[in-house]
Amino acid sequence: MGLKAITDKVFYYPHQTDTDRPMLAYLKGNKFALAIDAGNSAMHVDEFYVALEAAGLRKPDFTIITHWHWDHTFGMHHIGGASIAHSKTNELLRQERNKLSDGAYVDFLKEDDPCFGREYAGDKEIIVVSSDMEFADELILDLGGITAIMYHAVSPHSEDTVLIHIPEEKVLFLGDATSEDFFNNGYMDRDKLNTLINEIEKTDCQYCVLSHTELLTKQDLLNYLYSISNVHGGRL
Ligand SMILES: [Zn+2]
Repeated sequence: MGLKAITDKVFYYPHQTDTDRPMLAYLKGNKFALAIDAGNSAMHVDEFYVALEAAGLRKPDFTIITHWHWDHTFGMHHIGGASIAHSKTNELLRQERNKLSDGAYVDFLKEDDPCFGREYAGDKEIIVVSSDMEFADELILDLGGITAIMYHAVSPHSEDTVLIHIPEEKVLFLGDATSEDFFNNGYMDRDKLNTLINEIEKTDCQYCVLSHTELLTKQDLLNYLYSISNVHGGRL
């Protein structure tokens, strides 16, 4: 499996369903390279970096985290360059690290989530770290020629959700923002979903990238979200 291009400056390494590995993105600026999400393990990071090298791209200078869930963050200790996350993401990661010091909790996770069990089969070490840099509302990074606008957004999936908009390339990265909350019995908060839909509608982008699906156009994603949202149902 290799790196795929959305534009000549925006790339992604596709998601993998058997271990729940999310898509990892790479933004190639003239000055800096920014990766989106750190993957679910050191092995996932290694695999991503091999794909970057094969495409003639250097390792990222920065890695931004979309939200605290294990599949997006447990590779963070192994990345090159510096990591960036929302302050709430770091708070949740520190809580998770404390819980993981209990072997019974690790066993529970491996049983409860077969993807986690496969990624961390045997005695493979689980290492959780918080990020090198953190922000509260919005952080704008000039990568040289392209800009990454990273901002906290309301989402039904997790309270620490960060979206990344690359206005020059018209791409919006949403992590898992449009999904239900798996830590609250799969509850879909329709008010939060509608707030997120409004956010996507007003964003100037052509592509919307979710972490665990194929690449979508903005209209594909909105049509899907209207279909699952009471308020917007049947509007288009
Ligand atoms: Zn998630």
